[in-house]
Amino acid sequence: MGNRMRKDRLLKEYIHDPYFTKEKYRDPSVCKKCGVVFRDGIFEWVEPIPEGADPIICPACRRIEDKYEGGYVVLEGDFLKEHKEEIMNLIKNTEEDEMAFRPLERIIDVKDEGEKIFITTTYEHLARRIGEAVHRAYKGDLTIQYPEGWKYARVHWVRN
Ligand SMILES: [Zn+2]
Repeated sequence: MGNRMRKDRLLKEYIHDPYFTKEKYRDPSVCKKCGVVFRDGIFEWVEPIPEGADPIICPACRRIEDKYEGGYVVLEGDFLKEHKEEIMNLIKNTEEDEMAFRPLERIIDVKDEGEKIFITTTYEHLARRIGEAVHRAYKGDLTIQYPEGWKYARVHWVRN
């Protein structure tokens, strides 16, 4: 896929996000927390940081601060208890892969309650990607719901 097409698609995905009000950001800007760069209307990982970039806090870091999630993942079942470490590694790798391409997709929080793991993500894509990655690797049952249209994903995976 060409860079222009990728940009158009990324723009479309975030344009309705209350945290992505691009009027607020000067072009270019750089996030003080994570270093992501806002340039040509989208957020990208850019090296080196463009000269004169305006310091901001990016939408992902704001969502993390506010704990305003766009996706919610619940993992459970006996299989989870026995394979927690490898499953958590897979989830971390999934986050890294997704972040490389879509810099605003981050894990906000992981809560391990033994029998269950609860994960919140900044946007719906990463929640879905985590569910799909775990399902692809370990089978089990995966359910993905979008209770408020496509702006929020609720993901459930179970394997006993
Ligand atoms: Zn940031």
